[in-house]
Amino acid sequence: MTAVGEITAAVYTVPTDRPEADGTLAWTETTMTLVRARAGGLTGLGWTYGPAACAAIVRDLLGPTVSGMCAFDVPAAFGAMVHRVRNAGRAGVAGYAISAVETALWDLKARLLDVPLCRLLGQAVQAVQVYGSGGFTSYTEAELAEQLGGWALDDGMGRVKLKIGRDRDVRRVRRAREAIGADTELFVDANGAYTAKEAVRLAAAMDEWDVRWFEEPVSSDDLAGLRLVRDAVRPDVTAGEYGCDLYYFRRMAGAVDCLQIDVTRCGGILEWQRAAGLAAARNLQVSGHCTPQLHLHVALATPNVRHLEWFHDHVRIESMFFDGFRAPVEGMLTPDLSRPGIGLELRSADADRYLTRG
Ligand SMILES: [Mg+2]
Repeated sequence: MTAVGEITAAVYTVPTDRPEADGTLAWTETTMTLVRARAGGLTGLGWTYGPAACAAIVRDLLGPTVSGMCAFDVPAAFGAMVHRVRNAGRAGVAGYAISAVETALWDLKARLLDVPLCRLLGQAVQAVQVYGSGGFTSYTEAELAEQLGGWALDDGMGRVKLKIGRDRDVRRVRRAREAIGADTELFVDANGAYTAKEAVRLAAAMDEWDVRWFEEPVSSDDLAGLRLVRDAVRPDVTAGEYGCDLYYFRRMAGAVDCLQIDVTRCGGILEWQRAAGLAAARNLQVSGHCTPQLHLHVALATPNVRHLEWFHDHVRIESMFFDGFRAPVEGMLTPDLSRPGIGLELRSADADRYLTRG
């Protein structure tokens, strides 16, 4: 048996390139907790964009639980971690920490077998569509137009998303449509800023600009509100980014048109696949939330994947931190099949400038 060795976690805090805000939150830095899982002289990588408390959970609870287990039996390690945090509470920080360890273990297993992770999982598709995501409410209209127009017209992405939920929503949506032309799908994300009836009225006002995706129009905790909006508006209503377990996704799948899953929060790759199965049983597709470099391989293995979110903030960090970073071509992301695992190596010299704990 090849046993899992040491599990370590490091915390990096990276200032944003400009102030960022959505409909309900504003920030000027982003924190990543990165996990390394070792076995047989190799190291697997996983991470979550969660606070330093995630690293404490890895150090105190998850690492000691998983070390010594068989490196090939990732579902067993996952089950042991879920069991270990029963009293700590799985949803939130502990669930994000589990996700980082679980994904690191899959990367490690693929490296031990010297295959790309998508080959280990088995590919359903050869490439995955991405959509450009940014358009923060803190941007000027000129900045908004430049970013979304760049993705649509320069990079050939077929779909782009802006944040809404503060003021000037319709004006900003119109500006975005003008910047991207008629042939690009336009998405909006309110991050739970509205009541259900406010969201329905706003959707009607945005119809002139052909909005196709209305993410989190109301709080993700308000499933009745999500269903009300979903049944009343033209765009697809979507949510799911905060989900940490299958019960969450079972409830959410009954309230949306497309289920969002975040592999760095949901519990990792096994839970991603099971949540995608719940969606498939409702004839729904799934979309990966943020963190595109860590979503690529599991998305390739998911028959009902719609797309991944090319989130400006995380794309910037992942391009700074990793050799093997994959960039989309004409809006499509493909793996480098010459590299094992998720195909990424941390550039420590670059990442360590932002190390705050590790
Ligand atoms: Mg969102």
